[in-house]
Amino acid sequence: MVSRVIPVDPFDLVVFGGTGDLARRKIVPALFRRYCAGQMQPDSRLIGAARSELDSTGYRAMMADAIREHAPGRACEDGTLERFLGMIDYVTLDAQGDAGWARLAGLISEDRVRAFYLSVGPGLFGDIAERLRTHGMVNDRSRIVVEKPFGHDLESARALNRTLAAHFDEGQVYRIDHYLGKETVQNLMAVRFGNVLFEPLWNAQYVDHIQITVAETVGVGGRGEYYDRAGAMRDMMQNHLMQLLCLIAMEPPARFEPDPVRDEKLKVIRALDPVEPHHIVRGQYEALSAEHPGYRAAVGNPRSTTESYVALKVHISNWRWSGTPFYLRTGKRLVARSSVINVVFKDAPHSIFGAEAGRHANILSIRLQPNEGITLHVTIKEPGPGGMRLVEVPLNMSFAEALGPDGEDPPDAYERLIMDVMRGNQTLFMRGDEVEAAWAWVDPIIAGWRKRGDVPKPYESGSTGPLDADQLMKRDKREWRGIKP
Ligand code: NAD
Repeated sequence: MVSRVIPVDPFDLVVFGGTGDLARRKIVPALFRRYCAGQMQPDSRLIGAARSELDSTGYRAMMADAIREHAPGRACEDGTLERFLGMIDYVTLDAQGDAGWARLAGLISEDRVRAFYLSVGPGLFGDIAERLRTHGMVNDRSRIVVEKPFGHDLESARALNRTLAAHFDEGQVYRIDHYLGKETVQNLMAVRFGNVLFEPLWNAQYVDHIQITVAETVGVGGRGEYYDRAGAMRDMMQNHLMQLLCLIAMEPPARFEPDPVRDEKLKVIRALDPVEPHHIVRGQYEALSAEHPGYRAAVGNPRSTTESYVALKVHISNWRWSGTPFYLRTGKRLVARSSVINVVFKDAPHSIFGAEAGRHANILSIRLQPNEGITLHVTIKEPGPGGMRLVEVPLNMSFAEALGPDGEDPPDAYERLIMDVMRGNQTLFMRGDEVEAAWAWVDPIIAGWRKRGDVPKPYESGSTGPLDADQLMKRDKREWRGIKP
């Protein structure tokens, strides 16, 4: 099935931190792919801005390398890349100084959407927003895009929101959580609200519990210093897993539009119960080999008590979900890279087949990665004579197989989100009050650990996480669905 591409009106995009890892790996390759797809029009402009002393020619060469590495394909060979590079400029500037800003202002077109992507640490948001204003670059066609981490706690998130609000209206601020740009995450809403089949069952009466797993095989890599200050709770749970929780649990919004969707997500966060200390497990990975050091060695802090894994059980105190627990877990250096949501339904109220036939709950598994798709586990009869024995079988749908345009990958999350910025659609971006509400729920959990002197449980690299996380489920006579789908 070939997807329909609607071109986006020409725009100017300024990427602050344009020489950084995120710009090279994600932002610029994503734009290139949208250009190849015909969505980014040839008279759009991309302006990299960073501290490095480079001219536009040097920057184009750097971006050509980044694209060849991160968006390889035929388009890199047939002249398309050269045409794309022709749309790129570069300005050397210091976010905290004066040099370069007037030149940047001179490069921006008057009559079109201008987006400023802050691919820099949050400590520079205020400096950049202020200079954009003083150099006359903020008008009603301006948009500002900010990356995670959006704050370290409630107080810092509020301060960032205030800083941005001093220069931009909330309708101009795009807080990226790239999980929301994933095709399957949007499919979550399509499945829930586009079918009559699921929604009547989507409540505490029929759902036993819901599991959300985001497992990574990588360790902290080169982000050790940042990660050791953050941990899995701040780095993953407060944003990505909570966003998934919101989409799974929210009431149907009246329309698929920014405020109706974000209002419903906010209500979920505000209805979350505090988490009991015995309903949360923290872990820290141990060494696997000399090449794969343990967490403490990886971050260079032999006494670190930061978690690289967290699992928790939480209830949502509202009419729909009262009594249905949500189990969330995320960690590094686990056995497989797998992001999956399992909606585990209750058993049928009465078995006409008797206890010896066995019983299996229906489970809807929504795979975000890898092999994006949906599996509905249903119960059927085991084939053959000898009475009625029931077995669980998967009704499996891989999105790539069902929809893939001749084997092409679906657009990456950054491709979708950047195009949404240019179109002015904030539906898949977090609103300021949502982020603050998420921190307001997370802060007491972290404060509790500090107060109790909590130390994370060690777990083997390449495992499914600490044994205590299995206990969290076993105590409730439940079990995690395997990380390997
Ligand atoms: P990086 O260190 O690789 O790059 C930082 C960029 O900012 C460089 O271009 C540098 O020149 C520029 N910069 C730094 N100080 C500056 C100043 N005073 N004036 C002008 N430019 C300055 O960082 P990164 O990995 O690209 O991350 C950028 C931001 O995005 C960070 O806040 C990070 O947390 C966030 N983020 C990164 C990733 C990722 O995968 N890299 C993912 C999610 C969020």
